[in-house]
Amino acid sequence: MGKDLSRLPAIEKILQALGGHDRLPRPVVLATVREEIKDLRNNEEDIPPFDEVVQQVNRKLNALSRTRLAAVINGTGVLIHTNLGRSPLPERIAEKLTAIATSYNNLELDLNTGERGKRAGFLEQSLAHLCAAEAATSVNNCASALVIILRHLVREGRHRVIISRSQLVEIGGGFRIPDILLASGATLHEIGTTNKTTLSDYREAISEETAMILKVHQSNFFMGGFVENAQTTELSALAREKGIPFCEDLGSGAVVNTEEFGPVEHEPTPAEIMAQGVDLVCFSGDKLLGGPQAGIIAGRADLIAGIKKEPFYRALRCDKLILSMLEEVTTAYLEGNTDVPLLNMLSTPVETLRDRAENIVSSINDLPAKISVGNSEARIGGGTMPRSAIPSVTLDIEPEKMSLTAIAKRLRFGEVPVMGYTADKLYRIDLRTVFSRQDKDLSEAIRKALSPLLEKQD
Ligand SMILES: *Cc1c(COP(=O)(O)O)cnc(C)c1O
Repeated sequence: MGKDLSRLPAIEKILQALGGHDRLPRPVVLATVREEIKDLRNNEEDIPPFDEVVQQVNRKLNALSRTRLAAVINGTGVLIHTNLGRSPLPERIAEKLTAIATSYNNLELDLNTGERGKRAGFLEQSLAHLCAAEAATSVNNCASALVIILRHLVREGRHRVIISRSQLVEIGGGFRIPDILLASGATLHEIGTTNKTTLSDYREAISEETAMILKVHQSNFFMGGFVENAQTTELSALAREKGIPFCEDLGSGAVVNTEEFGPVEHEPTPAEIMAQGVDLVCFSGDKLLGGPQAGIIAGRADLIAGIKKEPFYRALRCDKLILSMLEEVTTAYLEGNTDVPLLNMLSTPVETLRDRAENIVSSINDLPAKISVGNSEARIGGGTMPRSAIPSVTLDIEPEKMSLTAIAKRLRFGEVPVMGYTADKLYRIDLRTVFSRQDKDLSEAIRKALSPLLEKQD
């Protein structure tokens, strides 16, 4: 191995040549440089010229800075995109958020008495109203909600959780309902078959060891044909007769009639589920509710009180920023205000999208690409409403001088990153998930990405 280690550049020299990295703190830059030198020392290849080393470090730093959280333009047409942070929050919440974040607040202070107060008392009351339940609380996410419900209801000797085989689902990202049950100390008591689970299957399964009956909403898939499942009202009656808690994991958690907002099916609301006699219901804050990441649990007051007393509850509780955002979204719904980005996107008329698309296209018609207005179908996403297909409008880009992969990369690497998709030999940007206030940034981004003069990006 005749490698000439004397050609290894000094760290200081590389740092100087880099001239600082505007988007990364110095210790991070330093660690990246050290790593590069270590790689140069240890790998088989000869040490490249100094300039190449600097370029390589720069590439690594740029790649690293792209892993920082940043606002992205969502041109995928998927409204609840888990990779893109799920539901965007209403802009009007920002002011409240800043105030709570940067000042002291009454998080656990009762301003009426000056004594210690109930954390999230108002929010919990509002959530209970919204779900037409006796009581409600919130935790980190819906997965946590399920875990804390199980931890409260599952105990030694009463550890079996009855669940239909049609509901042992994977939600996404490796999150599987049976795993959650097992990790929470429950014993799975699977009943019925994939396509059919009857009331008598449930009745026969109940024993001294039954902790609860769990129903999981089939959020991300659907079944047709010879399918039958015991009705929720029948199950509630059975559970009450046997004195066993009955809980439903709703997942998506729309609190409005979704079909009134767009061409989608009706999604069961927590209030409807409560009216069917369920003891507890849980759902996500950042899916169809259009709020922050949270898990909402609503239902019987004694069960909610018990859940809140679980030692584990503290590990899952929401912080003041989430609580304040959830409070804003919840109270708005209670006032009949459905001005939530998610619902607005769902209800935007196709004609409005087409007008915007035509405006954008006419502002970038001088670029080396065929750019036209296309028709598409947007989706709800986020593991909800798998059958949704919402008529939408796209910007269809066919670059003349670069590949579709290249334009996709250039748009992702831009100052305001843009995520579209490739289909039918076109790069497409769905406008249903792009805010109209982003139209200008979007056309700028497309202009830059298609501009041949742009220096090499990587
Ligand atoms: C999405 C979903 C969950 C998980 O919700 P998170 O808020 O992401 O933890 C749980 N159950 C169902 C049925 C879901 O659809």
